[in-house]
Amino acid sequence: MNIILLGPPGAGKGTQARRLVDERNMVQLSTGDMLRAARTSGTEMGKIVADVMDRGDLVTDEIVIGLIREELEKDQASGGYIFDGFPRTLAQADALGRLLIDMGENLDAVVEMQVDDEALVARITARATCASCGEVYNDNTKPIPADGKCSNCGSTEITRRADDNEESLRTRLLAYYKQTSPLIGYYYAKGDLKSVDGLASMDEVSASIAKALE
Ligand code: ADP
Ligand code: ZN
Repeated sequence: MNIILLGPPGAGKGTQARRLVDERNMVQLSTGDMLRAARTSGTEMGKIVADVMDRGDLVTDEIVIGLIREELEKDQASGGYIFDGFPRTLAQADALGRLLIDMGENLDAVVEMQVDDEALVARITARATCASCGEVYNDNTKPIPADGKCSNCGSTEITRRADDNEESLRTRLLAYYKQTSPLIGYYYAKGDLKSVDGLASMDEVSASIAKALE
């Protein structure tokens, strides 16, 4: 099964993707994570994308489509792919459609996670992530452990993303509404869209996603 998690920044796509990986042996393909990895590895591409990401703008289609193509070419045996944060533009959606056809694969569902804008701002400005394993913390709902060690892997490197501030977030929201939200209509028309309430608790959201994938 191959699915897309679609939704604004802070909708909880990464958290739910990680759960699907654990429960269904799926492979998570997060372009955001790939781009952040490229940055820390100091590659030429990493340098090019760093400023764009920190501002909250979208990286070029060419770069992210290239990253996704590279991952799909690895053709890992699994319960399928979860596309998280990709596609973000209509050009990316078309490219993904073509890549899947070339692989003889289908897109089984596009799960839209609905969250209102005010909740997004609150979530994102409270967010921190383990640099080592990707575990997500939130000052209000899941604080960083008092000893500063990740409860999942023990790393002390729990960091806030450079783009998780109010100004970058506003740019990310604009990019979402201008460039990504048209994908909701696009996939609805194709008959692939399922919408879930992303404001519910993490377990409730997982349950709605499971239902949407039945
Ligand atoms: P979030 O969903 O919280 O905004 P991501 O980790 O998915 O965060 O993405 C962080 C940043 O990486 C984006 O703001 C953008 O600059 C870049 N990015 C990630 N995925 C894409 C994509 N598919 N197309 C263009 N830029 C992307
Ligand atoms: Zn960790």
